[in-house]
Amino acid sequence: MSIFIIILMVVAVIFAVALIWKNREDFSEQALEEPPEDIRVSPLLRGINYLLSDKPDRALQEMVQVAKIRSESAEVYMALGEMFRSQGEYGRAVRIHQNILARPDVATELHFQAYVALGKDFQAGGLLDRALKHYAKALAIQTDHLPSLYACLRIREQSLEWDEAEWLVSRLEQVENEPYHEHRAYLKAEMAKNALEKGDASLSESLVLEALKLSPSCTHAYLLLIHQLLQTGETDEVIHQASLFLDRVKVDHHNLLPEALLSNEAFYQTKGEAFLWDMWQQRHDVEVGVRWIENVSQTYGLDAAHALRHQLNFSDLSLRHELRLAALDEANSNLVQQAKYWRLSMKLYACKHCGVQVHQMRWHCPKCNKWGTMEPLQGSHVFGEEQHAI
Ligand SMILES: [Zn+2]
Repeated sequence: MSIFIIILMVVAVIFAVALIWKNREDFSEQALEEPPEDIRVSPLLRGINYLLSDKPDRALQEMVQVAKIRSESAEVYMALGEMFRSQGEYGRAVRIHQNILARPDVATELHFQAYVALGKDFQAGGLLDRALKHYAKALAIQTDHLPSLYACLRIREQSLEWDEAEWLVSRLEQVENEPYHEHRAYLKAEMAKNALEKGDASLSESLVLEALKLSPSCTHAYLLLIHQLLQTGETDEVIHQASLFLDRVKVDHHNLLPEALLSNEAFYQTKGEAFLWDMWQQRHDVEVGVRWIENVSQTYGLDAAHALRHQLNFSDLSLRHELRLAALDEANSNLVQQAKYWRLSMKLYACKHCGVQVHQMRWHCPKCNKWGTMEPLQGSHVFGEEQHAI
């Protein structure tokens, strides 16, 4: 609350200085027919007073009144609207910004700012359709406004509207004159996944190929391609693509391959298992090994998982990996019970860009909105970075 009050005081002081300056100009021009400034601005000052007294509704009442009187105070209104929003008072922020739009003498630039602000108000309040509508109005005035384009992209991606998101990314490419190939590849992969779920295999296939053309290192597209090839029984091609997968996608995504190859048991038994053995012998990636055991446990049960662990013969495991494997066990020991409990709440992946930790692999970071940035949490800490730091 104290920061809020300080910001308000600063806004009030700026406004007062602006008024004194305006007074001086008016005096020099002998604009004596104008009503005195203190009468015209008093509702705004009264409004600020109400705000400081923690009476936001009275404040709003005064401010809405003054907004009809003078346009010079519009910037103060924009700042106050921002403050309401930052306090989580979205309804009040909307009222302030709508009031600016309702005035007859508003310049286009201010209209534009109010539309952007309303977009942010509705987005923060979770009314995403209305947010999009206001960002669209802002973009109709200023077509290359990057914050509005980014905001719309974020909403479309949150709403899983991949076609619209892809259009926005193409627009960002034009405005920023920069390629967004990896981003677009992940969007195409999401579209391919949707098409597959709707039973349109040929559309899914062409979208996956488009994704890989845009970015040959798009993990999601590779896994979909392998899945499609397993469905159609092209097993030699699966092996070929799995080799390319290992060469092209980032090493931190290699742990996702065992699950893909295990999704077709007949393939796994004839070719997939041997491929994973080759992979293990060449790289000895412990994360891949532990993940492989977890996947085998799900598909073939605990005995097969134990046998695989014995064959993999880990030289040393982090506490994190030991607990993951202990959680697979069926023994009734205290350690196994605790490991199972821990495994249910543990987070397996972290975004390398913003650090947010999640339970399951995600292609799209829910916090920073980057694509393909999730990597397995490594190291010996058991509860993740945040708890570890405490
Ligand atoms: Zn992130």
